[in-house]
Amino acid sequence: MKTSVLVVGGGLAGTSAALFLAWRGVDVVLVEKHPGSSLHPRAVGFNARVGELLRAVGLEGELPVSRMTKGFGVRRVRAESLVGKKYDETFWTPPAQLSDIEYSPSKGVGVAQDKMEPLLRDKARELGADIRMSTRMLEFSQDGDGVTAVVQGDGEPYEIHADYLIAADGHRSPIREQLGITRTGRGFMHTSRSVLFRAPLQEYLKDGIGQFVIDDVGFLTTYGDGRWVLMLDDREYAEPELRQKIVQAIGRDDLEIEIITTGRWTISAGVADQFSQGRIFLAGDAAHTLPPSRGGFGANVGIEDAHNLAWKLAAVINGESRPSLLDTYDAERRPVATLCHQQIFARNDGHNRDGEPEDAPLIDNNAMHYGVLYRSDAVLGAGPELPRAQLPEQWNGQPGTRAPHVWIEPGKSTLDLFQRGWVLVADHPQWEEAAAGLNVHYERVERLDVFGLSAKGASLVRPDGYVAWRSTDLPDDPTGTLKSAFSSSSAGTR
Ligand SMILES: Cc1cc2nc3c(=O)[nH]c(=O)nc-3n(C[C@H](O)[C@H](O)[C@H](O)COP(=O)(O)OP(=O)(O)OC[C@H]3O[C@@H](n4cnc5c(N)ncnc54)[C@H](O)[C@@H]3O)c2cc1C
Repeated sequence: MKTSVLVVGGGLAGTSAALFLAWRGVDVVLVEKHPGSSLHPRAVGFNARVGELLRAVGLEGELPVSRMTKGFGVRRVRAESLVGKKYDETFWTPPAQLSDIEYSPSKGVGVAQDKMEPLLRDKARELGADIRMSTRMLEFSQDGDGVTAVVQGDGEPYEIHADYLIAADGHRSPIREQLGITRTGRGFMHTSRSVLFRAPLQEYLKDGIGQFVIDDVGFLTTYGDGRWVLMLDDREYAEPELRQKIVQAIGRDDLEIEIITTGRWTISAGVADQFSQGRIFLAGDAAHTLPPSRGGFGANVGIEDAHNLAWKLAAVINGESRPSLLDTYDAERRPVATLCHQQIFARNDGHNRDGEPEDAPLIDNNAMHYGVLYRSDAVLGAGPELPRAQLPEQWNGQPGTRAPHVWIEPGKSTLDLFQRGWVLVADHPQWEEAAAGLNVHYERVERLDVFGLSAKGASLVRPDGYVAWRSTDLPDDPTGTLKSAFSSSSAGTR
């Protein structure tokens, strides 16, 4: 069989890739070797930037808002037990830096991975993605024309020919290994055990703290749906001992506790030294393994990889852009993963189990979510002198950053103008005329100040909602200037 894009791996990154590609009308097949999501979820917190991406595809409304709606991330405290004495709260980045600026029309999403994955999968299928669960990719090869993979479901193995392959096959990524792509980072950190249980503990979440480092026991947190997870040191535990640990962590022995399952986790950190090779692109944990304890970057960054890749693949497959556009995936996403890796180790993990912190300036959580800078051929005017991440108000519409959010009418954000295609934001008839001859949609926006523009300026926004280029004022030849900027940043074929 033939398809445009084959995605290997049906975790959060792969399923998001299938969803974003299908939403853009790309023919996509996803294979996942398991029949469904794991009984033991990992991720629970998805940041507001991911909320924005899901808003664009019409999914955000179906998802519960995260408890971590504060800009500094998840609230965590050291405690004697859940009901016992609490010590100082620890923050990922200092709360003093909190601003009252509203950065996003979205809130973070608080839903366990085993519920999030089916929602993404169902939406991807609804949009036309061909998702094959219980189907394993056995081998693959690529040449100048495409990728051939041998996959096997219930029956005999068969071949799938694709123009491109997305390797979203997890942190051990057999595809990355076969390609010989190495990784840089801290590597193995530790192994943890976990016990997933259900208990009526909702009343202990009222003050908004969701993570508890319990003295002499371990790390306790919740999936927000009655399920809790207690992380423990790596050794064997019989069930009575697990119950005793749970009781000790809670600080009460009068509650009904249902043990759901247990887990064992290898916690490591590393970023692939190349995010693509030929027609194959790494996404999610295959590209970067980012431990969850100080940033929850893992799945969030993986979903954003998928989003960055989807519009570029769509543009190349549709013949609107030259294949060189795909080189900007590595140029844009790998530095973000490397920055997340650095920030994880610059942050306080609340219990210092992973050795010395990294000696690097701490970057505000909101800057990490909404203010990373892309430098690539798909951006004009983002020089090496600029910082790697800043708050949106510091960027003020800088090319290479996510276009700023401001409400343009009740319930409608500037961000709702983007994502479908290229957009020119301006408020001047000459810019409207300039956009008319190109595959660029003109949007009249009054609040040009938030884009860093004068009343006669214009910003060109890419299909992923990032600013590609801007002219702060009206040039002599708006049509020629825009045409050249569009052709260059989109690697345009016409
Ligand atoms: C305890 C814990 C808590 C975490 N909490 C958070 C959090 O709150 N927020 C956050 O953002 N991140 C969190 N993370 C990280 C997050 O879970 C991961 O980053 C994310 O799930 C990775 O998704 P993925 O799709 O890249 O990889 P995976 O989820 O590993 O998916 C890879 C998939 O590929 C499939 N596969 C592999 N090989 C093949 C093959 N040959 N054929 C077919 N299928 C194949 C596998 O079966 C698997 O389903 C947490 C991690 C841990 C360990």
